Amino acid sequence: MTKRCNRCECHKSHSEFLINPRTDDGLYKLCKKCIAWLQRKRGPRRKYQTRITSIDECPPLPQEDGLRIIHCVGLPGIAADSNGEIWSCRNRGWTPVVWRKLSRRATNADGYVTSMFAVGTGSDIKSIKFATLVCEAFHGARPDGMQVCHTDGTRTHDWPSNLYWGTPIQNSQDRIRHGRNHGVDPELVNTAKLTWETALWIRSQQGLTNRHDLALQFGVTPSTIAAVWYNRTWKTA
Ligand SMILES: [Zn+2]
Repeated sequence: MTKRCNRCECHKSHSEFLINPRTDDGLYKLCKKCIAWLQRKRGPRRKYQTRITSIDECPPLPQEDGLRIIHCVGLPGIAADSNGEIWSCRNRGWTPVVWRKLSRRATNADGYVTSMFAVGTGSDIKSIKFATLVCEAFHGARPDGMQVCHTDGTRTHDWPSNLYWGTPIQNSQDRIRHGRNHGVDPELVNTAKLTWETALWIRSQQGLTNRHDLALQFGVTPSTIAAVWYNRTWKTA
């Protein structure tokens, strides 16, 4: 009984083939010699990668001109860069462990760029905003009760200079200032300092009163007054 090897195309006796219960004839399609040749060609087997549990297990951070990359504290294998991108070397399985940029496509219902991250040592998975990771890496740990705020009001602009830790009030003021309370009545925002009545009165004072004085009077920022004046917030048309 002979069998033809699929690689060298030689007809060899069955003893020249390794046993493989998954094939019809119970033997590998390649002869022992050819399998040995293939294994030499493939080189040593890669290590199976399990969860990265410390920064020491990470490959060196990527080097790019003008780019700062910082490890995320508490999330070994995750790093944030100065462009607001998040990197991961948390590859699992047989893939080589390399740093790669995470996709920015997934935004949550609030319009923030997020991704799912394994946290701790168990199987817990948590959705974390990219902004939070960048803010923690570049501005230090989140102070109690603070939220990550975007200075320009755009929730996908996650670079460090656009982020700061602020109170929930500051965060909603960013939104009001930039007119990003999509479809929400500004008066119903629980931190709103203005009402429709005061907002419309403020608008009527445009050109009559200094916006800094109005800001002081209503306990808001001058840019909030300007936003009301120019119909960017408390929109009436
Ligand atoms: Zn062969």
